[in-house]
Amino acid sequence: MGESYDAVVIGAGPNGLAAAITLAQAGRSVLVREANATVGGSCRSAELTLPGFIHDICSTVQALALASPFLRGQPLAEHGLELVHPQASFAHPQDDGHAGVAYRSVDQTAETLGRDGVAWKKLFGPLVRDWEKLAPALLGPLPPAPKHPFALANFGLKALRSARSLAEGWFEGEHAKGLFAGVAAHSIAPLEWTGTSAFGLVLGTSAHAGGWPVARGGSQKLADALVSILRSLGGRIETQARVDNIDELPPSKVILCDVTARQLAKLAGHKLPARYTKRLQSFRYGPGVHKVDWALSEPIPWKAAGCRDAGTIHLGGTFDELSSAERDPWEGRFAEKPYVLLVQYPFEPSRAPAGKHTAWAYCHVPHGGDLDVTDRIERQVERFAPGFKDTIIARSVMTPSEMERHNANLIGGDITGGANMFSQILARPVLGLNPYKTPLKGLYLCSSSTPPGGGVHGMCGHNAARIALRNELK
Ligand SMILES: Cc1cc2nc3c(=O)[nH]c(=O)nc-3n(C[C@H](O)[C@H](O)[C@H](O)COP(=O)(O)OP(=O)(O)OC[C@H]3O[C@@H](n4cnc5c(N)ncnc54)[C@H](O)[C@@H]3O)c2cc1C
Repeated sequence: MGESYDAVVIGAGPNGLAAAITLAQAGRSVLVREANATVGGSCRSAELTLPGFIHDICSTVQALALASPFLRGQPLAEHGLELVHPQASFAHPQDDGHAGVAYRSVDQTAETLGRDGVAWKKLFGPLVRDWEKLAPALLGPLPPAPKHPFALANFGLKALRSARSLAEGWFEGEHAKGLFAGVAAHSIAPLEWTGTSAFGLVLGTSAHAGGWPVARGGSQKLADALVSILRSLGGRIETQARVDNIDELPPSKVILCDVTARQLAKLAGHKLPARYTKRLQSFRYGPGVHKVDWALSEPIPWKAAGCRDAGTIHLGGTFDELSSAERDPWEGRFAEKPYVLLVQYPFEPSRAPAGKHTAWAYCHVPHGGDLDVTDRIERQVERFAPGFKDTIIARSVMTPSEMERHNANLIGGDITGGANMFSQILARPVLGLNPYKTPLKGLYLCSSSTPPGGGVHGMCGHNAARIALRNELK
């Protein structure tokens, strides 16, 4: 049977690598088996369009990496990672040619929001002040440890509602409502759903507290740094080593699976209690994404000057427009005017040949929906940046099916390991105090189908590995 290990990890995404590093740092022997030829899962980069143009195939903004207690504790810079910050984290233009802009400074942000500036400061000021207490609690296992009850209660009162009720309760004008809607729509859920305000508050606060940087040279550098740390600790990684059944693995005391809930049912359903397997199979996935990467001849010609300062631009106009666009994919429709999440890199010139640029954008589409909506995405960019289409030298397009071919965890194009409905934020993948541990001794789930969910933070893997260490690898 060959070698045996303390732990085998299936999947080398950020969470699988975080789990493996956590175990290796505790002195345990670890093997990671990755299906793809390259490591990183949804944290990889490639020359998708033309030679010399580096694109992040999936994740690009490393706001959660900065907030993550696990990643903050790793010597990532020593292993090649450099984070580069745009002047502003995100911007949201309206048709009047002006944009609300989220700068690191809450005051500077408020200046872009007219009469709602004071309300933005009142909403985000206390959260930014408490961020160092909030981030570890919100990224840990649920329910959060009550170490800072006042900070958590203040957050909870604002977070346990819909993005619409929060925006309408706090703001009067479209610029502030739109700026909040754009960041809350990272939830990939209708903005009227309870809990969508939490996405806007967490990501909005991270924009002020730490910023929204990207990795110099591409997100792959973050995955490569994690691999380098793991190897320095003696951990082993095998690529092009897809696992179809947990029985194929070499002997180990624990197995940690960086796959989503339904994939776990396929890998281990024959050994898990039928009731648990059924719950994994009924775990719900959300809309897919349709993604476009561009090689550009020049920076995007935004009408609103503030958009030139930001890394991320949320396109779609008013709160009501975004709300309608985000409801469509849940009801099986492709939005005519989608909410578009765009990232540009004029502040990070290493991604393109001298004088040239890259940009990345996606919109949400029905689960598994493969209609080509590239034109709808480009029309939304053109709406706020006339002349944009003339700057395109080349493009790469990925539909939900292509996303899933690139990474088996992107079921139907769902990028967060399962839908972010309130019930699945609390019960991820099933309701219980220890969602990482399955009923089968030694088998753990460590992907974004566990708390705290999607994003490059590694906390699902780190949390799962800590529990495995405590329970079975003492
Ligand atoms: C288009 C897109 C944009 C995103 N943008 C951002 C962003 O800007 N910022 C951010 O923080 N997050 C972003 N995300 C989300 C973030 O990338 C994910 O939440 C994160 O990568 C999840 O990490 P993970 O380790 O759980 O899973 P993954 O990154 O999906 O990794 C899972 C790994 O497991 C492997 N695997 C699956 N099945 C098997 C098997 N049977 N055998 C062996 N290996 C297997 C896969 O090949 C993959 O390498 C984005 C995601 C996508 C898709």
